[in-house]
Amino acid sequence: MIIVFRQGATEQEIQGALAHIVTLGYTPHLSRGAVKTICGVTGDDRALSEGEFDQLPGVESVLRVLKPYKLASREFHPEDTRIGLGGVRVGQGTFAVIAGPCSVESEEQVEACAALLGRSGLRLLRGGAFKPRSSPYSFQGMGEEGLRILAAAARRHGLAVVSEIMSEHDVDLVARYADVFQVGARNMQNYALLRALGEAGRPVLLKRSMMGTIEELLLSAEYLMKGGNASVLLCERGIRTFETHTRNTLDIGAVPAIKRLSHLPILVDPSHAMGDWHYVAPASLAALAAGADGLLVEIHPEPALAKSDGKQTLNFPRFEALLGRLRAIAPHLGVEVV
Ligand code: PEP
Ligand code: MN
Repeated sequence: MIIVFRQGATEQEIQGALAHIVTLGYTPHLSRGAVKTICGVTGDDRALSEGEFDQLPGVESVLRVLKPYKLASREFHPEDTRIGLGGVRVGQGTFAVIAGPCSVESEEQVEACAALLGRSGLRLLRGGAFKPRSSPYSFQGMGEEGLRILAAAARRHGLAVVSEIMSEHDVDLVARYADVFQVGARNMQNYALLRALGEAGRPVLLKRSMMGTIEELLLSAEYLMKGGNASVLLCERGIRTFETHTRNTLDIGAVPAIKRLSHLPILVDPSHAMGDWHYVAPASLAALAAGADGLLVEIHPEPALAKSDGKQTLNFPRFEALLGRLRAIAPHLGVEVV
């Protein structure tokens, strides 16, 4: 942190601020310029807020130098993090396609999706058993029965399961069936859940909330990592803006920004970002071009019959066509679709 004193700050005010820094356990480094006097504060000051200093007499402003997150930052960990899931590597050099229905609805529906992934050479199956729905009257998911269906289909086709967890009380239950805990957009700042998943010893796919900044997403990842969980996958799924034609606005710029700020893999969910199947393929191609590490995409054997998010869901031929295009382009970018 750097403290800037106002012009004309008295020696007593400056010495008072230095003493306050020492009291807090940090080391002050004073620099007297011709016009302004500033003071650097060294030591890991992430726990400090600007408010510690900007009310002190003589202080004009306070500037933060360190990012408020550490474990999630690229400064702390320069190399890309790679996470092994279902026999594939997510992270540098691959574009991992995680696909499946929005909600688990039946044995047949999930089996059809799992079989498609298996014969397409993909390894990661998504499906919601606990659904965070905007309306309490909408389908809420099949719960444990849904998880059982997912895990059984995944076992038959050699896939790993990604499924949403909504409460810290469900950790043991979801862990019995899923390989990756998905934290949905609505729970990005559910700190009790993040704390529990920090200690759960299993990868977490953390979605950006609809009004969450990149910094807030990385701070939520920090909760998971601080608890000891190094296997965190981030996911950009669209943010809420003034635009209403699309369900959300895909913040494609977040992909290179997060790559620069963090070593964690960043996926794109084109389904929730766009909210309409017409735009899912273009958004997916944009994600690949922007340097994302993969996709989380909704598919269904008959989207028109889906109990949730049918409008944004790809049917199988459209999904296979998208996969073909991704596989045609990826080698030119030096990545492999897995
Ligand atoms: C989902 O992946 O089905 C989902 C509910 O997404 P989000 O949390 O991004 O809305
Ligand atoms: Mn959905």
